[in-house]
Amino acid sequence: MESLKKLYKIGFGPSSSHTMGPERAANIFLNKNKDATNFKVELFGSLAETGKGHLTDKMIYKVLGEKRTTVIFKPEITYSYHPNGMMFKAYKDNVKIDEWLVFSVGGGTLKELNEERDSFKEEIYPEKNYQEVAEYCKKNNMSIIDYTLKHEPDIKEYLKNVLVCMKQAVSRGICTSGILPGGLNVERKAAYFYQKYLKNHLKETLCYAAALAVSEENANGSVIVTAPTCGSAGVVPGILYTEYLYNKRTDEELINSLMVGGLIGNLVKTNGSISGAEVGCQGEVGVACAMASAMIAYLEKGTIDEIEYAAEIALEHHLGMTCDPVDGLVQIPCIERNAIAAMQAYNCASYSLLSDGIHNITFDNVVEVMEQTGHDLQKEYRETSKGGLALRCGIKK
Ligand code: SF4
Repeated sequence: MESLKKLYKIGFGPSSSHTMGPERAANIFLNKNKDATNFKVELFGSLAETGKGHLTDKMIYKVLGEKRTTVIFKPEITYSYHPNGMMFKAYKDNVKIDEWLVFSVGGGTLKELNEERDSFKEEIYPEKNYQEVAEYCKKNNMSIIDYTLKHEPDIKEYLKNVLVCMKQAVSRGICTSGILPGGLNVERKAAYFYQKYLKNHLKETLCYAAALAVSEENANGSVIVTAPTCGSAGVVPGILYTEYLYNKRTDEELINSLMVGGLIGNLVKTNGSISGAEVGCQGEVGVACAMASAMIAYLEKGTIDEIEYAAEIALEHHLGMTCDPVDGLVQIPCIERNAIAAMQAYNCASYSLLSDGIHNITFDNVVEVMEQTGHDLQKEYRETSKGGLALRCGIKK
């Protein structure tokens, strides 16, 4: 597994695979081809199907320069390696000087064709799955926090910034109203929910407000943290802000909980997928819910097995969840889904902590099943906006 810094990325929404990944790729290609006079970028598969709504082309134009760049959408071409393929071509005085086929595989991560999907260039955690991590921790009398700090001694400083960025996104979102961009006429609701919270003081209302706030900020193209992706960026801050304001947790506790959630997200990123284009929304909001559930179980002083069970329940009960964003925008069903998943994380953590801890399906099992289920989903339900809700509503129908 890679550093948590590669999982929690601070950047602009609305999509880690369709906005952040292509932005990173464009920057890398531009730095390699500083002499180029023109660029051509072809987008394949899901990037071509929903790239417009996810602002993929805008981000590429912004980096490479609108006047000298042509972005071409080619939905008819999909590579079996991953549905989010991009071909960058650089020209100097109309002569091609370079080309690069690259894939945005989720959470802003890039891979080249045939690069092993479950290996990363900078692996720093030797354990491969939750079972190995749990065994190592028990044998050495360590917590997940000790384990993370052993491999990433400087991670607290980074996570401090992650926490600040998440809190700022909530603070902006709960005091902003109006219509989100994109033409779907979706009204922001976080401020309305927060006003209700100020009257009813219910934990649920605050949790919905905070998760909505970040998801709406993401849909607006503002700065958020991938947790594990942009589309699912509201779930973890939803519970973190609730724990901060409602349960009066300290920053130290919240930063520690980010390590626990980070381990869960990292395990799925390594052994499964966090890409909606590859496995549907179970890999985005499902994984975010598992991260948040594990974090709550940790904050409630759950054991390493109870933390695992909390994450397992959350992911298991999102199995099969499709990705069918209306008009290719990260708004319907994404925003509301983040709020519901944040509250669901509380239910999953409670269930785990109330149980006797015995469970038949391990977290590692459910990650494998999630990946297989994702591959079994028809492509219409994997971020193409060609199935489900995307067929029933929207302005382009
Ligand atoms: S439906 Fe889920 S996976 Fe698809 S774009 Fe929305 S949040 Fe991402």
